[in-house]
Amino acid sequence: MQDTSVNAWDAFLQFVQKSITQTEFENWLSPITLIENTEDRYVLKVPNIFVQEYLLENYKKELSSFFPLDEKKQLAIDFMIQEPTTKPTKPAPISILGEAKKEQKLRLNPLYTFDHFIEGPSNQFVKSAAYGVGTSPGKSFNPLFIHGGVGLGKTHLMHAIGHMVLEKHKKLKIECITTEAFINDLVNNLKNKSVDKLKRHYRTLDVLLVDDIQFLQNRINFEEEFCNMFEALINQNKQIVITSDKPPSHLKLSERMTQRMEWGLVANIGVPDLETRVAIIQHKSELKGCNISEQIAFYIAERIHQNVRQIEGAINRLCAFAHIMHHPITLDMVVSTLKELLQQVTPRLVSIDAIIDGVCKTFEISKSQIKGSSRQKEIAKARQIAMYLAKEMLEGSLNQIASHFGGKTHSTLLHAWKKICQEIQKDEMLKRQIEMVQKNLSS
Ligand code: ADP
Ligand code: MG
Repeated sequence: MQDTSVNAWDAFLQFVQKSITQTEFENWLSPITLIENTEDRYVLKVPNIFVQEYLLENYKKELSSFFPLDEKKQLAIDFMIQEPTTKPTKPAPISILGEAKKEQKLRLNPLYTFDHFIEGPSNQFVKSAAYGVGTSPGKSFNPLFIHGGVGLGKTHLMHAIGHMVLEKHKKLKIECITTEAFINDLVNNLKNKSVDKLKRHYRTLDVLLVDDIQFLQNRINFEEEFCNMFEALINQNKQIVITSDKPPSHLKLSERMTQRMEWGLVANIGVPDLETRVAIIQHKSELKGCNISEQIAFYIAERIHQNVRQIEGAINRLCAFAHIMHHPITLDMVVSTLKELLQQVTPRLVSIDAIIDGVCKTFEISKSQIKGSSRQKEIAKARQIAMYLAKEMLEGSLNQIASHFGGKTHSTLLHAWKKICQEIQKDEMLKRQIEMVQKNLSS
């Protein structure tokens, strides 16, 4: 069966090429190179561990018929993981005009830079991960998956990476797209029969930033195309950054896509705490050249908690008003200008006790049972649900929240939260029960 005029690797490639798609071949097998071969041992260079695992998992049988085995009847192949390089695919012309054009085409918001991003406990981790990616694309976290609620700075951070790459890695080819734009691009190119050109374009990028991947849900054909492109890039150690309103496991996407997105770092961006919101208000108003006192900043920050975009809307309105009226911003002005907005967004404050009460009523157990340490199934489940809701609905450190459950630790809380997050994916009934408790709390 084995052709002796070619080495085992080439023979293996020739053999499997017949049975897989061209895309799969290019994404997974082409990036592997044969470094060394003796009669009884082969060294293969792979771009990363995923490619190695893919090869071993999918072609074990074929590999053992082409490659020599060692004394322990194991494949005599050594893998070498390639050092990541960020060599540009195609050098871009470095001219001032070229740079301006590039930035224009990228459509990055000029204000969405790291300098204008205010750090706090809810976003410190994801910001430093993003900074790491901007500093050395393809070498730290790949892909970087940023998820979190609306208006919490996902797009801001993604553009900040874009700005940094443009500034520090001028030769890298970068693209920043929304998922909708990606789909539209594909549709248009399908119509014009130029889809291969488009695919080639994406596959030659060094850095790809994709905003709002949740829009890929229920778009099966596009999802497959996206996944192929994703693999092609990742397998050459090209940097990918994705944002989403949910973590990968909560998205209605194929298992293949979900797994790929979990390969690198999945980081959550949370609701900023009071102090961070105050700092954001002060920073944004300074940018607009208008002065907001600390007292007023606190007044607004205490009332708009869930969404930085709303905070920004409030500042814009206030500053415009102050400008037109030639009047400094006073508390009265805030109250009258933001009346509607503040009414809209100020929900009833939820307390830990209210959450515990709500769960106890719905699941018919007592408070002392929830705070105790019984492992009885129903009680343990209700406790986990209360912990989940507390983490979702309250501010404050995990340790602080956990201490209300009879002095449990933050890791117990986190464990409970993760468990319920997973269970509500599969258990529609549980999901509805939790939503009911939540609705009763905030109405
Ligand atoms: P998302 O993509 O998560 O919906 P955006 O990135 O569009 O949110 O952010 C909404 C607005 O809030 C933007 O104007 C952004 O600059 C601002 N913003 C969010 N978080 C921060 C932060 N930590 N520091 C400064 N501005 C922020
Ligand atoms: Mg966004």
